Amino acid sequence: MFKGTNASSGIGIGTARVVEEADLVIEKKTVADADAEVTRFKGALDKTMKDTEALAADLATRVGEKEAEILQGHMMLLMDPALTGEIENTIKGENICSEFAVEMVCTMYANVFAGMDDELMQQRATDMRDIKTRMQRVLLGVDSVDIASLPEGSILVAKDLTPSMTAGINPKNVTGIVTELGGKTSHSAILARALEIPAVVAVSDFLSEVKNGDFVILDGDAGVVYVNPDPEIEKEYTAKRDAFLAEKKELEKYIGKPTTTRDGVTVELVANIGKPKDVEKVLQYDGEGVGLFRTEFLFMDRNSMPTEEEQFEAYKKVAEALAGKPVIIRTLDIGGDKEIPYMGLEKDENPFLGYRAIRLCLDRKEDIYKPQLRALLRASAYGNIKIMIPMVTCIDEYREAKMLIGELKLEMDRQGIAYNKDIQVGIMVETAAASLIADIFAREVDFFSIGTNDLTQYTMSVDRGNDKVSYLYSPFNPAVLRSIRRIITCAREAGIMVGMCGEAASDPMMIPLLLAFGLNEFSMSASAILYSRKMITSLSTEELQSVADKVMSFTTTKEVENYMREFIAEL
Ligand code: PEP
Ligand code: MG
Repeated sequence: MFKGTNASSGIGIGTARVVEEADLVIEKKTVADADAEVTRFKGALDKTMKDTEALAADLATRVGEKEAEILQGHMMLLMDPALTGEIENTIKGENICSEFAVEMVCTMYANVFAGMDDELMQQRATDMRDIKTRMQRVLLGVDSVDIASLPEGSILVAKDLTPSMTAGINPKNVTGIVTELGGKTSHSAILARALEIPAVVAVSDFLSEVKNGDFVILDGDAGVVYVNPDPEIEKEYTAKRDAFLAEKKELEKYIGKPTTTRDGVTVELVANIGKPKDVEKVLQYDGEGVGLFRTEFLFMDRNSMPTEEEQFEAYKKVAEALAGKPVIIRTLDIGGDKEIPYMGLEKDENPFLGYRAIRLCLDRKEDIYKPQLRALLRASAYGNIKIMIPMVTCIDEYREAKMLIGELKLEMDRQGIAYNKDIQVGIMVETAAASLIADIFAREVDFFSIGTNDLTQYTMSVDRGNDKVSYLYSPFNPAVLRSIRRIITCAREAGIMVGMCGEAASDPMMIPLLLAFGLNEFSMSASAILYSRKMITSLSTEELQSVADKVMSFTTTKEVENYMREFIAEL
């Protein structure tokens, strides 16, 4: 049995598919017969084109036309006679192998494109590098793993999963995920929960213990993984899986019920989403709105920035689907562990303390922030959209963003474009600084949403994805709990709405405390909504005051966790 961190609920039973991106070694080799080498190159080119075409067609049906366009662009490059002619001439002129000729010619073009000022040309550089690697893989016979087409019953095993890799997963076929790295709030874990795929992360050295085709069982709640276990274990976990699925079905009776505590306090139970498509699950699980739309996912998995128009369509779609229910859309939060290659950002020494979120947006107003804010304002005419600003540390950042929104509103008035004149603008409270001056913020902003994933990271000075220090990463630490309680109190005193969209909002051990502190809104993965409604409706905020008092008197994380574990076990 292997132990890791529980990252997404449920039991996964299936066949290991180990996903490893092998490094390509491209050596300069001379060839005796250059003509034969050109024929070899042409064969590889042909195969690369066919593979790309198939991938584009699959992506178009499974994900969308827009996503497939990137690959169609690659096809155009592969068909360009200037490029392929030059590769052939290099093979013949220098008597070198195809892999190296591809390396020389494509890198040369990529560098030329990358050096141009025009953004479109810079994206071409990324495309050029992409097709280079693809041709070289074919030439070297190295399979690249296509996560999107893993067979049914796969347990995806990887060192780590990038958010864009996770987004390519087909949940019908992937029944579980195991990774060596990552943490509970790494973005791949969040996506696994959104896709409702059981996952265990941070399993040390797992890749050396498992191989393709092994039979794997994982428990996404206990954080354990078995490789080729005994039949008794298989039997036990098959029964556990069936019970988990039955319990999930049972929760459906909470659909359509209000989220009101036994003593009559009604809170909002809303969902976190990453793409417009996620709204389907929000409606399926009866979410009362969207408490966090992580817009950065619209910017990932593509080769260029989504235009104002594309963003507008995405935001409008969500606003309309929620039909007047609140939709809190967070402006771009990249940097940290979310990279977007085509934006040409330099690597930060300390990404989580660096050029991230609002810092980056205020620095790139013209090409990034204004188009997004305009798209949001335009979409606000179609539903109950609220704008939320991430990673704020000082009031100046909020004021600058607010001023920009004001300018855009005036511009849109002049252009006669409709938008909601009273649109609310709030902040994520997720830095230690924002928490300490929550009273100042509460006087100016329209609402708070507590981002415990980052608040824990920034309060405890602990990288949220680093397994070595994860023992410090807990929202139940007295420092984080004090911070949370303070933020809620400041908001309540100023009379503004305060929600929570970090992962702690759906933690059964945290929910009673949040109710006692007076949280108004709980935002979580759609799949956690019904369980949370069941729990909230069984509690009384009045009765919880003594629980909260007791918890706030503890001095260590362990004491808090043990007490809350016992408390919920007795419910
Ligand atoms: C958070 O920090 O709690 C949060 C909700 O945002 P993200 O996980 O996207 O940083
Ligand atoms: Mg955050």
